[in-house]
Amino acid sequence: LNDASGNRALTAALLDWYADHQRILPWRQSDDPYAVWVSEIMLQQTRVATVIPYFERWMERFPDVTTLAAANEDEVLHCWQGLGYYSRARGLLQGARMVIGRFDGRVPADVGDLCLLPGVGPYTAGAIASIAFGKDEPVVDGNVIRVLTRLFALPGDPTKAPLKRELWELARALLPAGRAAEFNQAVMELGALCCTPRSPLCGECPVRGSCLGFRQGEATRFPELAKRVKVTRIVHVAALVRNGDRILVTQVPLNASLWAGLWRLPTVELSAAETEEAASVRAVAEATGLTGVDAGPVADLVHHVTRYRVHLKLRTVKTSAEPPTDRSNQWLRPANLDELAMPAPHRKLVAGLIGGAPDQ
Ligand code: SF4
Repeated sequence: LNDASGNRALTAALLDWYADHQRILPWRQSDDPYAVWVSEIMLQQTRVATVIPYFERWMERFPDVTTLAAANEDEVLHCWQGLGYYSRARGLLQGARMVIGRFDGRVPADVGDLCLLPGVGPYTAGAIASIAFGKDEPVVDGNVIRVLTRLFALPGDPTKAPLKRELWELARALLPAGRAAEFNQAVMELGALCCTPRSPLCGECPVRGSCLGFRQGEATRFPELAKRVKVTRIVHVAALVRNGDRILVTQVPLNASLWAGLWRLPTVELSAAETEEAASVRAVAEATGLTGVDAGPVADLVHHVTRYRVHLKLRTVKTSAEPPTDRSNQWLRPANLDELAMPAPHRKLVAGLIGGAPDQ
């Protein structure tokens, strides 16, 4: 840590810079705790540019906690469709109901209470408490970690003790009393716009005079994150079963770890020694209990889920009888794709069928 006057100078320089350089973002136009909460949850795994239209749509559809708490899960998932990591949407819905039932309809201001809401951890709680309620609470997210480890040339893995704890203490010690909202956002904004991961713009940085990483000529050495987990490649085979101008879609079981409750094409993971033809037939059998015959490839695409690179292959399957529709199987007209909440890769495949291949 620098001395107290050094820290004050650093804080003042950051606040001045933020006043001039902050981006205009829809959630910064209000200090409504609900809006801040929604934006922070959306931003947890997603870039700002992607979040903006989703945030605007969400706030139009669910403008306050009461409206959200009264919504059903399908509507909520539908509004979230395409943002990924759907447990965040479910967490918001459960959280809204908790706010109504337990906190008298008001988003709590206390960090401990905020952490009771599903999907809200110390970072998100600190962000809501400081930004929406003006409390002197610090935040430590990826941007803050990068900025602080560089400013103070802090070695070690910031995701593990003791550095993790040290970063929270440092972020708290730097807070200018009564201005935590601006300060927290200033550090995060510096990380997003200036102190970027690979090529920080140190020449334009308002705090380079106090930056040990910069002075030592090794800013990008920090943070010393553990090596990324290796990406594993897997193949998923999806089945296209047609009935006139409609296609079969199936609901992902509610206890699945990914995409629970969403609708997708019947899909299985290709197992070792299995052909894609056999896998497409298995996908239909697992979804409907019917036997089928593979009738060839239709389309494919690659997407990423956590540490997996998924090659998703769509193949036509003709079934021995018309698959029954029930709670977990439905017929969907690709043109009516918007009626169901569908994970982005499956949505893309189905959208590709609109006006595409003739009925087979
Ligand atoms: Fe980051 Fe460079 Fe600024 Fe240091 S001087 S905080 S490394 S941008």
